[in-house]
Amino acid sequence: YTEQLRMTVQATIEMAVTDALTGLYNRRYLETHLTHMIDHYVNRSKVLSILAVDVDFFKAINDTHGHDAGDKVLQELAQRLRDHTRSIDLCCRIGGEEFIVVLPNTDAMTAEKIAERLRRAVAAKSFVIGTPAPVPVTISAGIATLSGLDDSLEKLLKRADNAMYQAKREGRNRISKAGLVA
Ligand code: GH3
Ligand code: MG
Ligand code: MG
Repeated sequence: YTEQLRMTVQATIEMAVTDALTGLYNRRYLETHLTHMIDHYVNRSKVLSILAVDVDFFKAINDTHGHDAGDKVLQELAQRLRDHTRSIDLCCRIGGEEFIVVLPNTDAMTAEKIAERLRRAVAAKSFVIGTPAPVPVTISAGIATLSGLDDSLEKLLKRADNAMYQAKREGRNRISKAGLVA
């Protein structure tokens, strides 16, 4: 009974911090954890970057292949994000087809390389998800790097989001780096 109780508690904790569809961390966990990390990093002058990742034309994927296929695309994308990041990186699904990857100890230049590697890992191989033909998927990503003593969770997320939209405007299936101010 004690073992069962322990497992139930464990499952409840996991549900509170993870996204049910993909198994990635959820927005609540991201916000809590990243707030603490920013505090820690700012105080010790350590470097940290984040990536805001958004699936390109995801609505069209749903419309063409159905909502269930769309869900499978999100699951496969989550797997590719996990496969191409380090174990210390934090992959989160914060909304429908929007993800944040937290890159501890990573400067802007390195973050750019990682983002480019992720972009390629998605675009290079169509998604095998049980549809008649594999589905080509691309992502756009924005990079933001922690900067200065008065940086915050909101500002960092905003800069990454702005950069992601910049990548969309520039044609999608690309990455863009945020300036130092949003
Ligand atoms: P863009 O390239 O500009 O990002 O275009 P987009 O089509 O990806 O963006 P838009 O915001 O127009 O559409 C996002 C779609 O994602 C709309 C919504 O129905 C779908 N969506 C949100 N959450 C889920 C989900 O959990 N599963 C599935 N299958 N679709 C979802
Ligand atoms: Mg979106
Ligand atoms: Mg999108």
